[in-house]
Amino acid sequence: MQRKAYVETYGCQMNISDGELMQGILASHGYVLASRPEDADVILVNTCAIREHAEQRVLGRVGELYRLKRENPDLVIGVTGCMAQRMGTALLDRAPYVDLVMGPDGYRHLPEALAGIGRLAPGRDREADTDVRQGAGRGGAGVQLPVLRAAQRKAEAAGARKAVLDLEPHENYEGLEVSRTSEVSAWVPVQRGCDYRCTYCIVPYVRGSEKNRQPEQVLDEVGDIAARGIPEVVLLGQTVNSYRHGDWDFARLLRAVARVDGIRRVRFTSPHPNDVTPELLAVMAEEPAVCRQLHLPVQAGHDRTLKRMLRRYTVAEYMAKVEMARAAVPDLALSTDVIVAFPGETEAEYEATLDLLRAVRFDDAYLYRYSARDGTPATRLPAQDFIADDAAQARLERVIDVQRAIQAEINRSEVGRLEEVLVERQARTAGDVLGRTERNKVVAFPGPPSLVGSFVRVRLTDTTGATFMGMAAASGERVA
Ligand code: SF4
Repeated sequence: MQRKAYVETYGCQMNISDGELMQGILASHGYVLASRPEDADVILVNTCAIREHAEQRVLGRVGELYRLKRENPDLVIGVTGCMAQRMGTALLDRAPYVDLVMGPDGYRHLPEALAGIGRLAPGRDREADTDVRQGAGRGGAGVQLPVLRAAQRKAEAAGARKAVLDLEPHENYEGLEVSRTSEVSAWVPVQRGCDYRCTYCIVPYVRGSEKNRQPEQVLDEVGDIAARGIPEVVLLGQTVNSYRHGDWDFARLLRAVARVDGIRRVRFTSPHPNDVTPELLAVMAEEPAVCRQLHLPVQAGHDRTLKRMLRRYTVAEYMAKVEMARAAVPDLALSTDVIVAFPGETEAEYEATLDLLRAVRFDDAYLYRYSARDGTPATRLPAQDFIADDAAQARLERVIDVQRAIQAEINRSEVGRLEEVLVERQARTAGDVLGRTERNKVVAFPGPPSLVGSFVRVRLTDTTGATFMGMAAASGERVA
């Protein structure tokens, strides 16, 4: 009988794309993809390690899934992705009912790894099963009791639990089939890993150094996506615009992707400000398929903080990139990432970040408070530099208020525009559908579900401040 697999993904677009990759690998090895964990023989929780909160959420979720394993001792539970790489075998210690821990460079070996699991893992061996049940009864899922450890050691010794954690310097997952979850937009990773070493960031340690795919392979994949009728691609990379392969740089790759027949929209994320070049902006301005939208993470608005973060640019250099981008691409929508309460950030430095938001007036921003990640350089800053929780939370709440007000002002000024919307899904309000404009603004408007996947000209009639409401335009109205 065919085994059923369920993949549950947390985190960024790169991780969601990895989830699709794992599903593709499993499907090509005879697994049927389940839509609910209750129906699966194998559950993979594909995790994120960027913030502590995300990890706690995943640990809680894995603990919940243990309930299914108690009902079905043959169930295999795997934890994959950045958190699996970061915690490594400690995760097997912490969660004795987890059978597999696999980092982001191991997915090619997923079928073999799963094939080796299942004979004597805790929960499968009768004696060990008893141990696990006792452990759960007394302490709940995830609690380290002596009986659990004994069961776990026995399973490990028998090779029934696995940790696949090697970083592979050349693994780009070329030539593998991806199982796509959307018929509207497709993620295409063009780069994995990162060569920057921002002091707060775990990515270089869990995803290794930068690896760029061959342009021919990327273009083949985009051609297949277009042939399936998917009109939008999003090129992904940790610092996507540092892409380089032979004499191909990112600007050249972006232009080639934008010219693939059938592709009507191209986005990319996340670029690093230092790798924004005039050539890249020229492609954005000249190629009609490239969306007038740029996500440009700034992280902080003061040079001292930027230096301590090792972002490798100053505020003045960042502002020059913003100016250059706006001059090259008229009506560009800009978004950013900001981290407040980085260790040692003074009140004046924090205020400088608010000033930068007010000066640039981003269309959107992802705002976070600093989250310490073990193993990153920032955790070794002097203890007195770390900002107390309540002060950090207050800084976060204030920056959210400032940015929300700016965003609402910008969006109110855009009510009345006629925009082309690519419909992504049904909205929560009955009878409405939801989509995005070229400038990545979210719009809900009345329309049947059959519109999903189509481009509709929509007049923006109102805004909540963050998203828009609209009405399909009368035929004949032209998008400006
Ligand atoms: Fe992390 Fe910095 Fe690399 Fe982005 S550029 S992935 S923040 S190290």
